Amino acid sequence: MKKNFDVIVIGGGPSGMMSAGRAGELGAQVLLIEKNDHLGKKLSLTGGRRCNITNAETDNRVFLENFPESKQFLFSPFSQFNVKDTFEFFETLNLPLVIEDRKRAFPKSQKADDVRDALEKYMKQTGNVEILLETVFKSFKIKENRIVGITTSSGTFLANKIVVATGGLAVPATGSTGDGLSALNKIGHTIKAPNPNLAPLCTNSKWIHDLSGTSVDDIGLRFIQKNKTQFKVRGRILFTHFGISGPMVINSAHKVKCLLKKGEVEASIDLFPDCDLGSLDAFFIKLFDEQKNKKLKSILNTLLQKSLVEAMLNMLESDMNDMQAHSITKQQRKSLVQIVKDLRFPIQGTMGLEWSIVADGGVDPKEIDFKTMASRLHPNIYLTGDIIDINRPSGGFSLQLCWTTGFVAGTHSAKKTKLIKHR
Ligand SMILES: Cc1cc2nc3c(=O)[nH]c(=O)nc-3n(C[C@H](O)[C@H](O)[C@H](O)COP(=O)(O)OP(=O)(O)OC[C@H]3O[C@@H](n4cnc5c(N)ncnc54)[C@H](O)[C@@H]3O)c2cc1C
Repeated sequence: MKKNFDVIVIGGGPSGMMSAGRAGELGAQVLLIEKNDHLGKKLSLTGGRRCNITNAETDNRVFLENFPESKQFLFSPFSQFNVKDTFEFFETLNLPLVIEDRKRAFPKSQKADDVRDALEKYMKQTGNVEILLETVFKSFKIKENRIVGITTSSGTFLANKIVVATGGLAVPATGSTGDGLSALNKIGHTIKAPNPNLAPLCTNSKWIHDLSGTSVDDIGLRFIQKNKTQFKVRGRILFTHFGISGPMVINSAHKVKCLLKKGEVEASIDLFPDCDLGSLDAFFIKLFDEQKNKKLKSILNTLLQKSLVEAMLNMLESDMNDMQAHSITKQQRKSLVQIVKDLRFPIQGTMGLEWSIVADGGVDPKEIDFKTMASRLHPNIYLTGDIIDINRPSGGFSLQLCWTTGFVAGTHSAKKTKLIKHR
């Protein structure tokens, strides 16, 4: 096989495929290497296998508010490829997108694998991209202080430009094991140690584990430290065998992690976030009065899921399981209201990298020229996607970063290419 290319892209994830396709589209001879036996292994898992492909906020300024620490770097790449371009790009590849709640966009087909197929089609139709699977990148090949190629498990390949798209460390089973980060560190880049960032939260409270599989669409969730509410969020919660999950929880993980560094953290669930204690008590008085002879448990089962009702009743001091509404005392009703508004449990931490959606950490953005995505230390090396230390929420923002940085790196790596003679 050919050994000399204009551009080598290391890593066949979303950002790598975008870069390779874009460079190929502009006429560069591209080699894409991927260690797995197929492309986009992590991409296939995204959005519960439906792929939340972007967030349909088309105003760059508003979109970039979601990247408070890095927005100043991102205006330039987003002026070259933004959310509107993403919609157009995939539609041109016969993959129309639909918009769901919170502006989350998905392929109309609801299949993440279709996104991977569209990107493969994009690369293939350029006629300029060679794909080498089951090939592990080992190190950069350096000659006279310049990076001239890479060594891999399938031999050495040379190129004038190299795009590093090996991802971060979240879910290492997909192939993202941080190889690119250690190689970049060896050539002088500063790498912030990765940590689970967008991840579920774990607790040792057995009653939470027992609710595993239960989800509630609209609850209030407070995080408490030293008896003071530190912050609160509202949305859907999913109980799991280790703790709590769902987009609202996952997006809180970063803040919770910061709190945990300072001390113990408790979470409190409010099952009726629209009512204060007084109005909820009044609601229960009316409800119990209307259904005097009904069992408390049956009344609550009409309002909340059975598993949740059981967990709540078990928490009450007096056994109210078989009580009829008319025999509930004022004190018992007040305790019930209190529990419904403040289900407490301790938070032990965030789940590890194997559960994390993205890991923070990676290459320091200050070492990257975001106009081109080129390294400021090695101008013929380009960096894309999760490999860069950019904090962001869930909701399609990570993949949009891949499309933008991949497109920009592909565009600029394809420029002024000249083949290096292989010896
Ligand atoms: C479960 C889950 C769900 C997610 N859902 C969403 C979502 O719905 N929306 C969203 O925006 N984001 C989502 N994300 C985040 C998103 O998947 C990532 O941001 C994105 O995949 C990063 O793309 P990337 O190209 O930078 O790297 P990756 O997707 O990590 O791809 C890197 C590729 O490089 C390859 N590689 C690594 N080392 C080597 C080596 N030494 N040699 C050769 N190849 C190598 C890997 O095998 C891998 O294929 C989700 C993440 C997870 C884990």
